[in-house]
Amino acid sequence: MLKLDNCTIANSNFLLRADLEIEAGTSVAIIGPSGAGKSTLLETIAGFRDLKSGQIFWKGDDLTARPPGKRPLAMLFQDGNLFPHLSAEQNVALGLRPNGGLSQDDLKQVRSALGRVGLPDMGARKPADLSGGQQSRVALARILVQKRQVLLLDEPFAALGPALKVEMLDLVADLIAETQTTLLMVSHDPQDALRITEKTVLVADQIAHPPIATAQLFENPPPALRDYLG
Ligand code: ADP
Repeated sequence: MLKLDNCTIANSNFLLRADLEIEAGTSVAIIGPSGAGKSTLLETIAGFRDLKSGQIFWKGDDLTARPPGKRPLAMLFQDGNLFPHLSAEQNVALGLRPNGGLSQDDLKQVRSALGRVGLPDMGARKPADLSGGQQSRVALARILVQKRQVLLLDEPFAALGPALKVEMLDLVADLIAETQTTLLMVSHDPQDALRITEKTVLVADQIAHPPIATAQLFENPPPALRDYLG
């Protein structure tokens, strides 16, 4: 279980409260108005922001003081997930060996991950020679080799067209099911949440609310969500 215990998070003068629990293995959308604190929440869980008060636990372990690289999670951002001067294979390899030095077995894992995301023959290409969708797939392959227990996605497919976005969401859903990964995904699109998440955390009015079943939340939205949906 991921537990945010009585947390107060600050981003400049902005304050966000979070007191919630997410069962391990659940896929969760984080939805709310622009500027409500969705990215702030994700960055805090990832360890890029300090808490003002409260604690974060994963399966009972206190993560609060742990630096990002020591947390059992991986994060994908809206863009800038790949190094432009490295090939797809080298970008994926960084997930496995951040300091270089790849063994034959490592290389096998890298190639297998690229195969799993549908890019078996593109390992030698640099990001500039890949489409946006293919770049997203490489970023996902890097997450795959990291074998982290929690995956944090901050609208990573926002720049893709609708059909490609759906394809990527379905690939994420397949991958997390195969690897039993817990997913937290920021999105501004209710359809994304309804497509691949079981629960949704509504972030509004400076509160990250406890997760509610996604379908139920959108069938009967509370006032803050209704305002946002329009
Ligand atoms: P969301 O992801 O929901 O759009 P953010 O987490 O990015 O919201 O931002 C939450 C709030 O944090 C913003 O409304 C703003 O008050 C504050 N904030 C975010 N980024 C900055 C920044 N670079 N400088 C000052 N305040 C910021």
